[in-house]
Amino acid sequence: MANLLHARDINSQSYPDFLDPIETASRGYLDALQEGALVSTSAHGYRYAPLIRELWDGSGIKPSDIRSKADFQEKAPFLDKDMIRAYRDGRGDPSGGMSAAVPGETVYIGTTSGTTGDPTPVPCGRRSPSEESFARDQWYFGARPGDYMAWIMFTFRTGHRRRIMGEMGIAELLFSMSPAEMPRLCEASRIYRPTFMSIMPNPLILALEQHFERSGEDPVDVFKSYKGALFGGEPLGERLRNLTKSWGLELFENTALGDVCGASECRMRNGFHAYEDLAFIECIDPVTLEQVPDGQIGELVVTTLVDRLTPLVRYRSGDLVTIDRSPCGCGRTHARFKLLGRASDQVLVKGRSILPREVLGHVECHSETRAGLFQIIRTDREMDELALRIGYDLTRLKTDVAELHARLHDRISTAFDVPLRVELVDEQELLKLGPPHKIPRVTKQ
Ligand SMILES: [Zn+2]
Repeated sequence: MANLLHARDINSQSYPDFLDPIETASRGYLDALQEGALVSTSAHGYRYAPLIRELWDGSGIKPSDIRSKADFQEKAPFLDKDMIRAYRDGRGDPSGGMSAAVPGETVYIGTTSGTTGDPTPVPCGRRSPSEESFARDQWYFGARPGDYMAWIMFTFRTGHRRRIMGEMGIAELLFSMSPAEMPRLCEASRIYRPTFMSIMPNPLILALEQHFERSGEDPVDVFKSYKGALFGGEPLGERLRNLTKSWGLELFENTALGDVCGASECRMRNGFHAYEDLAFIECIDPVTLEQVPDGQIGELVVTTLVDRLTPLVRYRSGDLVTIDRSPCGCGRTHARFKLLGRASDQVLVKGRSILPREVLGHVECHSETRAGLFQIIRTDREMDELALRIGYDLTRLKTDVAELHARLHDRISTAFDVPLRVELVDEQELLKLGPPHKIPRVTKQ
C-alpha cells in the first residue's frame, strides 16, 4: 500500500512489494523526519491540548525551546495515563485535556481497551495512525484487494481499523468476541476462505481447541486459506503458538504502541515493529527518568508524530521493553521492541523481579491448566513469597487436585527459586473476571 505522502521523498532503490516504501527508509531519513515532526508536534500539543500546555507551563518549557530532537529529549515533560484520567475527572473534559477540538475533524470517538483501569476515550480523525499501522501490517501479512478477512470484534476502539479494510478492498466477515461464535467462524472460513483474521485472543483459541476436539472437524482444512491471524490481548505462550501452528494458522502478536497506534511482530519473530514515521519511541528508567540505551530494559515512552487530534507527547506507556534499531530481516528499517510486561504488573519476590509473561509457560504446559489462566496475588510491591492463583479444568484432572498442586508447585518453585504459594480454583471462576479477551494478571487479593 503506497504511502504517497512519503514515497516521493524517499531515495529508495528498491523495496519488497509487501512493504510500504517508508518502511525501508534509511535511518538518516527517519532521523530527519523525526527531528522536524517532534518540533511541530510539540508546538501543536502545546497549542491544542490543555493538559500538555499545563504540564509544560508548570515546567517552564515553551514550544519555542524545542528546536531539535536533543532539545525535546532534554526538556519535554513526560505525560502518563493517570494525569489524563485526573484531568478528565477533575475538569469534566472527556478527552482528559488531550484533544485538539478542531470542528469537523473528529470522525468518531473510540476508547482504549482498559487494561489498566477504565477505558480512555480516543477521538479519531479520517485516517488515524492506528489505521495506518494496521493497514501496513495487513499488507505485509498478505491481505490484498478482493480478499475476505475474519474480523472478531475486539474493543470499541478497533471500529476504525475496520474502516481501513474497506478502503483496502477487503471484505470482512464479522464475529462477536465470544467462544460461542467459533463454530460459525469455522463454517464461514470454509465458505469464504478468508486470508486473515483479526484479532484472535487466548480464550477463543481455547474455545476452538475444544470445538475441534468435540466435533472432529479438521482444523487444517478450516484454516487452509489463512496467511495468518493477529493475536492480541495477552502474552502469547508457546503452547498456543504451537497448537495453532499445527492447525496451519500462523499467529502474529499485536500490541499497543503506547496508545498512539498498534504494533505487530513480523515473520522474523524478534519483537514488535514500531513505525517510526508515525511515532517517536524512547526507553527510560522508570525511576530516574534517564534515557536507557537500546537493548537494555526500560519503560517505553511514545510521542505521536502525526496525530493532531490526540497529540500524545512523551507519553509513558507503562510497558517494560527493550528497543532494537538495527534493520530487521523482514526488510524494515524501523525499530522493534520486545515487550517484557507492564511495569505495574511487576512483582518483587525476595528481590527477584517477576512478570506474568515469565509465569505463563510454567502453567500452560500442564494438561489441566493448559488454558494458562492464573493471577499473581500482590499484597505489596516487595514480597517474601510468590503467591499464584491458578485456574484448572476439572474435566482434565489426571488423578486429584493435590497431585496437580504438587506438580505445579514443583515446577514453578524450581523455575523461580523463591518461596511459593499456589491456590487452585476452577478456571471458570477466573474466566468470569474478563473482559472477554483477558483477565487481570495481577491482583491485590
Ligand atoms: Zn521485521
